[in-house]
Amino acid sequence: MQTINNFIDGKYAAPLGGRYLDNYAPSTGALSGHIARSGLEDVEHAVQAAAAAFPAWSAMPLEQRHDILRGIADGILQNLDRLAEAESTDSGKTITTARTIDIPRAALNFKFFATALLHFASESHHQPDVLSYTLRQPLGVVGCISPWNLPLYLFTWKIAPALAAGNCVVGKPSEITPLTASLLGDICNAAGLPPGVLNIVQGLGPEAGAAIVQHPMVKAISFTGSTRAGVEIARVAAPMFKKLSLELGGKNPNIIFADCDYEKMLDTTVRSSFNNQGQICLCGSRIYVEKNLYEKFKHDFVERVQQLRVGDPADPKSQLGAVVSKVHFEKVLSYIDLARAEGGRVLCGGQALQLPGAQAGGWFIAPTVIEGLRTSCRSNQEEIFGPVVTIQPFEDEADALAQANDSPYGLSATIWTSHLQRAHQMAAQLQCGIVWINTWMLRDLRTPFGGVKNSGMGREGGWEALRFFSETKNVTLAF
Ligand code: NAD
Repeated sequence: MQTINNFIDGKYAAPLGGRYLDNYAPSTGALSGHIARSGLEDVEHAVQAAAAAFPAWSAMPLEQRHDILRGIADGILQNLDRLAEAESTDSGKTITTARTIDIPRAALNFKFFATALLHFASESHHQPDVLSYTLRQPLGVVGCISPWNLPLYLFTWKIAPALAAGNCVVGKPSEITPLTASLLGDICNAAGLPPGVLNIVQGLGPEAGAAIVQHPMVKAISFTGSTRAGVEIARVAAPMFKKLSLELGGKNPNIIFADCDYEKMLDTTVRSSFNNQGQICLCGSRIYVEKNLYEKFKHDFVERVQQLRVGDPADPKSQLGAVVSKVHFEKVLSYIDLARAEGGRVLCGGQALQLPGAQAGGWFIAPTVIEGLRTSCRSNQEEIFGPVVTIQPFEDEADALAQANDSPYGLSATIWTSHLQRAHQMAAQLQCGIVWINTWMLRDLRTPFGGVKNSGMGREGGWEALRFFSETKNVTLAF
């Protein structure tokens, strides 16, 4: 049994109220430990530690700040096995996903922003007798709140640019996957991060998370999570004029034309549908296929999906692990029932899987493909966030666009075609923040990342993140 405490002012500390939450292992359904259930007083402690550390951290020479952040990246890689194992146990994702995607990317986030801070520059505007220049100053104490689907990956995606820009952070990982963020504390200490620069408060969203959002000394909130929580955070933070970056839900279209590179599309579509049990905000959960390719695609896709190995996440041969929690397991299954009630035909999957042995109590769901649903029905409009995709035919480009854009969400979209003019024209008309053409989830960390409509506001990545985590000040000088 593990006890996961807060990391404040460079030290691990029990929650001041002495309360703990239960933590569960999704692959067995068993209790795995206890998590600090932090409250207002713990957040206050963390904010004060961050505020005290801010003057020295923000004034530190850039090379020194770079070296420390690079050291954290190296420390994550030195602990790759331990972190990957922790991430897999805590979230139910396969050890292979944790080892090859989550943890390497967490290290890369620090490496990327450690380097970026050395190159970040601001503008100047000249006239014959006037010089204006822009200062980009750190904000002070900022809050970073992250979800359970890519725990350390998304936590570090926020923390690294916040620290690189010279801020001090109060971070809160998801209460469902607290473990790797907790291990990060020791790695930061070993890299020489001064106490108080990064503080990690564990606990529930409406308690610890809300306390960070409400705190008047926290100048910005970078949040990734559900649209529901994003609405609540915006409601509280907007009247306080905090800077807000909200990365929220998605229900992304994957548009497949008959002229695509078929094998590449099929391989990638299996991944973009079921990677991490479909629990990636970028997964293409609504698949639209050109009419003349539909039957062939349906046959081949279902055949491939039926071959996916769902199993013990610790087994390197498993391709899908467990979904993250009992509540989420029940939610995903209820959406499969809803899809059936809405007239959907389940082509494969459609039920929970009972694994043998130690995994008998785990939360496993067979990868599920459903056809015959209208775009406007709930199971095509609401985010399921599990191993469930729907497939539907389209007539032409206009029909594909209309169906793809008929969604309250607008995070990402994928287009498969060899007709590049068509792809570019559609990319411009899709209502979303990210479009992939003939690929999926190919991330260049310099590019802007984020969504429109109910998928949120603001952009992460590259300069966008460093601009978010700094305040712009114009200075004008007349000669
Ligand atoms: P969630 O909104 O329940 O929780 C996310 C985080 O916010 C957790 O740390 C939680 O404790 C905290 N939180 C919850 N309510 C809060 C409140 N009122 N104030 C402050 N903090 C609060 O989301 P989740 O279930 O952990 O994650 C799944 C969701 O995240 C999905 O909707 C998914 O699409 C989305 N997501 C989006 C992106 C993106 O980049 N757009 C990436 C990953 C996940």
